[in-house]
Amino acid sequence: MPKIIGIDLGTTNSCVAVIEGGTAQVIPNREGGRTTPSVVGFTDKSERLVGQIAKRQAVTNSQNTVYAVKRLIGRKLNSPEVQQAKTLLPYELTASENNDVRIHILGRDYSPPEISAIILQKLKSSAEEFLGEEISDAIITVPAYFDDIQRQATKDAGKIAGLNVSRIINEPTAAALAYGLGKRENEKIAIYDLGGGTFDISILELNDGVFEVLATCGDSFLGGEDFDQKIIDWIVAEFQRENGIDLRNDRLALQRLKEAAERSKCELSTSLEAHINLPFISADRTGPKHFNKTLPRSKFEQMVTDLVERTVEPCQKALWDAKLEPANIDQVILVGGQTRTPLVRERVEKIFGKSPSLEINPDEVVAIGACIQGGVLKGEIKDIILLDVIPLSLGVETHGGLFTKFLDRNTTIPTTKTMVFTTVTDNQSSVEIHVLQGEREIASANRSLAKLELINIPAAPRGVPQIDVTFDIDANGILSVSAKDQSSGQEQSVKVTASSGLSSDEITSIIDEAKLKAEEDRRQKEQAILRNRMEGLFQSTTKTFTEFGWLLSENDQNFARESLKAAKKVFEENNEEQINYRVVMQDLEQAAALLTQAMFSSQASAGGMNESQAGKRESDDPLLSWLNSSTSSDRGKK
Ligand code: AMP
Repeated sequence: MPKIIGIDLGTTNSCVAVIEGGTAQVIPNREGGRTTPSVVGFTDKSERLVGQIAKRQAVTNSQNTVYAVKRLIGRKLNSPEVQQAKTLLPYELTASENNDVRIHILGRDYSPPEISAIILQKLKSSAEEFLGEEISDAIITVPAYFDDIQRQATKDAGKIAGLNVSRIINEPTAAALAYGLGKRENEKIAIYDLGGGTFDISILELNDGVFEVLATCGDSFLGGEDFDQKIIDWIVAEFQRENGIDLRNDRLALQRLKEAAERSKCELSTSLEAHINLPFISADRTGPKHFNKTLPRSKFEQMVTDLVERTVEPCQKALWDAKLEPANIDQVILVGGQTRTPLVRERVEKIFGKSPSLEINPDEVVAIGACIQGGVLKGEIKDIILLDVIPLSLGVETHGGLFTKFLDRNTTIPTTKTMVFTTVTDNQSSVEIHVLQGEREIASANRSLAKLELINIPAAPRGVPQIDVTFDIDANGILSVSAKDQSSGQEQSVKVTASSGLSSDEITSIIDEAKLKAEEDRRQKEQAILRNRMEGLFQSTTKTFTEFGWLLSENDQNFARESLKAAKKVFEENNEEQINYRVVMQDLEQAAALLTQAMFSSQASAGGMNESQAGKRESDDPLLSWLNSSTSSDRGKK
């Protein structure tokens, strides 16, 4: 039965896990890392780099290196969140016709799902190498606070990467699954998740294997990147004060600052001070300038207090929605690398009045939970039921620009609800159903998800037609809306699913391109393996031919000579595109077989060969001098 992998597609790092032999295991990547930086780099040689290798070259290639793409997925370019992110990101953002964000790299626009798909592909291939089998199914996690469009966009990313996304689950819910597996007692737990770019808080009840999300809240624009930015701002200000140079205008310097800021932030989680040393960070007429200062933890804490404080209100709101007091919470679980900052832990302890549990690794817990959900779907793990909720209220715009709620936030999913609407003018022949998400009473203040129009309503006085509008949310938290006019008795329905901002044609063409790329990668890998094998065989056959070629018939000698020549040409020309390695290899293998056969039969008939015979034939053969001169340097290298 095919395996389902669990993927935590993080803003900063991603992680993949699988159930093996009944237990959840984190899958290391090719470089041995248990998490993979969510970074994609493009080089001018049209190479695509993913993970650690992409992160490493970010300093020198910042404009073509995409990180934190999760902050952009499913968003419009003119949204305040993207405008805020834009100031931090070194790569260029553009917009599609619908104003969806695009990332402009080396003359091409990429949609955020495309970039996320490149990361997912790397995780998928790590899992395939690790498990030795093809993987096509995955569970991907998203912040609980992700809206419908962001979820759909994440699903599209999976699709582009060649993954069938069996389920999208909320990160805190996944964490609870990882925490609660095997625990049978009844508990109320709070999951405080502060990752690279998002903050989520969820309150769950664990009851005999049933995981019920009671409430969830958060801020999809608050995370570790903001903590880094505070340190960057501090370095920039200090440097400007001392040298009068604004480092913000220097992209290369900024990228180095970003790296140094993150490193020192992590150091400050265990040390009381961090040394930030950035030699040759800038220069002016008086010579090179360096930055070398110590950042005490107390100063860092002062700088980030406002960020930590921004997590308090969502926690209180989630408790309120769950109708609980802090004292009712039995356990507080920390998720996300940023929760390693001591100030964050202290604040969490103050909010809930108890110290958070440290029993699971905050970097891996979400991926582990996701693969547990995979195990549940496949029936490998039994006795667990997951009851998730919607993070924001859903409804439609009604007369006068008002927002009429269909489903309140924290409604358990999957769910379906139908409400009956009518017309506002006499003989009105169509109605527009504007679907929105949010908590505000005024429609325009909420987020527009989709619009659909129901036409051909039979003429009737206002208020007479009966229009059924149905909201249906599946287990992934993805919404479909349909409308049906009842007044004529004739059924007419329309269905709308919010999209990621990519049309289905665009998705198909991106999938095709991704497949093409995957095919190209596979072909390159195959070529490289063949080339290595061929090189070995070329060297050994050359050696054998030099010594024992004289044993072959003239025809066979010519064949072996030609095969060796063809192989040599391959190495000299190095034109990977046009070489059919298989054909060259086949001839080489045949030449080697002929030589082996000749050696055996000569040994069998003459009882072996003497030195002088071999030496004599060697110097007689015109090919040998050519072979000797061309392979001597190769031998020398070995
Ligand atoms: P995640 O999205 O869960 O991988 O969280 C990544 C965020 O956690 C990044 O902003 C990291 O810089 C941050 N992080 C990782 N390790 C630490 C640490 N030891 N102390 C503080 N922040 C950390």
